[in-house]
Amino acid sequence: MSNSRQDHFLPRGRREFIRSTGIFIGSALITGATAGPLSDSKETPAQPVNQDIQNGFFDIHLHTCFPRLPKITRSNGTHYPSPEVLIEMMDNAGIAKAVVLSTLSPECRYTIVTPEETLQICDKYPGRLVPFCNFDPRYLTNSTKANFLPLLLAYKEAGFKGVGEYIPNIFLDDPLNMNFFSQVEEAGLPLTFHLAPQVGGYYGCVDEPGLPRLENVLKSFPKLIFLGHSQVFWSEIGILKNPDERSGYPRGPVEKEGRVVKLMRQYPNLHGDLSAGSGFNAISRDPEFGYKFMEEFQDRLYFGTDIANVPQELPIVPYFRKLKEEKLISAEAYEKIARTNAERLLK
Ligand SMILES: [Zn+2]
Repeated sequence: MSNSRQDHFLPRGRREFIRSTGIFIGSALITGATAGPLSDSKETPAQPVNQDIQNGFFDIHLHTCFPRLPKITRSNGTHYPSPEVLIEMMDNAGIAKAVVLSTLSPECRYTIVTPEETLQICDKYPGRLVPFCNFDPRYLTNSTKANFLPLLLAYKEAGFKGVGEYIPNIFLDDPLNMNFFSQVEEAGLPLTFHLAPQVGGYYGCVDEPGLPRLENVLKSFPKLIFLGHSQVFWSEIGILKNPDERSGYPRGPVEKEGRVVKLMRQYPNLHGDLSAGSGFNAISRDPEFGYKFMEEFQDRLYFGTDIANVPQELPIVPYFRKLKEEKLISAEAYEKIARTNAERLLK
């Protein structure tokens, strides 16, 4: 998902996009590159579905919504892809299935995507799109006594497979979050969260360097599967060299294992969402380290793109193709991360 410090690659020219992804770009993306107003008729997909799609990726993290009014966009004119365009982008990237996230918290949004809208979209594409529901912990009573459980169970019964993207810009272990997490744990749904470095100017729950609040929640809710995501999370795959790295994409070798590696080793309920620039950077900035990391945590990592724009670079797609073709990780680890971990978690 994106804001001024967006955690994915910004749209670029069409030619550059094709070169960087190595995948065919449909007509809808050409339309999108002009940043014109969003409308269904303009974005009708025209490309044939990739024949290998059934064996394609399972994407743990992306965004879509029904078209909004033409001027309801981010300040730079971008917007989420419509469901039709999303499906075309998935086809072109070889993505068989994907989790569609709901986003309810107001921080850094240009529009709200409710669970009901997400469900309606996913119902149009059975077998392709998997819905995640969501709440903001200030809903209901804005108190630490709010009872979300009946609503979470109702969403689960309606077919939602998880909660996210969870983005309220309050401390990760704020009592409001602790109350909500205990009920998500009880409902038996996994939760995808976005971490931010501070309150204000960001979306996502706040944690300090070293992720002490994340450790607190992992310890407090051992049966709740947390899917870690965002720059602040993935920058700690290595030791932070300076605090600025937290909101960016630290480059270069991972000289020493960071907190994410240690927390994943210690807490089996911490899983890794590899979507967006942050997840891709974490596994590719130091290739050898990335391969080892994926082998060690092959049961708890998930391929993902964080599609949230039209068009959007998806550098993780050619990266994963290369992993497979050049056997850079074991065939077993590849299959799990590319597809079967998500199938198992969300069945
Ligand atoms: Zn996102």
